[in-house]
Amino acid sequence: MNPQRTIRRSISCAGIGLHSGNKVTLSLKPAAADSGVRFRRADLGGLEVAAAAEHVGGINYATGLTRDAVRVDTIEHLMAALVSLGIDNVVVELNSPEVPIMDGSAAPFIYLIQEAGVKPLSTARKYLKVMRPMSLTRGDKRIAIYPSDHFKVTYSIAYDHPMLRHQSRTIRLSEESFVEEIAPARTFTFLNEVERLRQQGLALGGSLENAIVIGDTGILNNALRFDDEFVRHKILDVIGDMALIGRPLIGHLVAHRGGHALHTAFAAQVLAQTDAWTLVEGEAADLRGALPSTAPVRVS
Ligand SMILES: [Zn+2]
Repeated sequence: MNPQRTIRRSISCAGIGLHSGNKVTLSLKPAAADSGVRFRRADLGGLEVAAAAEHVGGINYATGLTRDAVRVDTIEHLMAALVSLGIDNVVVELNSPEVPIMDGSAAPFIYLIQEAGVKPLSTARKYLKVMRPMSLTRGDKRIAIYPSDHFKVTYSIAYDHPMLRHQSRTIRLSEESFVEEIAPARTFTFLNEVERLRQQGLALGGSLENAIVIGDTGILNNALRFDDEFVRHKILDVIGDMALIGRPLIGHLVAHRGGHALHTAFAAQVLAQTDAWTLVEGEAADLRGALPSTAPVRVS
């Protein structure tokens, strides 16, 4: 069997919330099999909300969870790091409503998880294997998932801006490909949007330290980490948003011009279409979302 995993020991980091501008301490803590990813608000006496599509809610421009009095925002980059490193069960404790933005990518969360270490549990992991296509279209935005032997993502973006028009990329996900090709890609925004966000009381913690800002004649930051860092970041976002399904995916996810609202609505739709997928256990160890087509797979 391919065992579920948690982290070996608790670990913390500190940063600021992108939208709130608040200082926040984030701690990751080991958790039992089948408990999933749970966000805990230490400043609210330890109230929790599970990282599940049914709890999606909160601000625009980021993915948040709400349940009763509990709210957590901007979870997507941390969620992408957790699912891609195969951390099925963990408690994420915060002393503020927003996950720290760090450098705008998932790389700092990768370091954090690697520092904490990975611990296999004695319960099998189950993957959600797509058996027939599903899709969701809203205007010119579209997202779909197709049967595949691996977890793959194709993303395309199109903007009407001289510095950023069309980018497209396909990647077959494994821990290694995520860490090397996707995790370092940073959040981006357009300079003229920054003012608009601030007027809405958002992006108060935003700076060139945690986002790529695209001006009329170029980026305001020193350099990009990849020529197509923008579409790579969209892949990072959709992996984090689809992680709210609560199980790693086996299928080919294809998105065009999506955003958090479309991604998370699609995660809920996939979960609801129970006749379009099946749960399987992988036999090969350490191949989260990247089962070879030759690996025997049991239908549960
Ligand atoms: Zn993002």
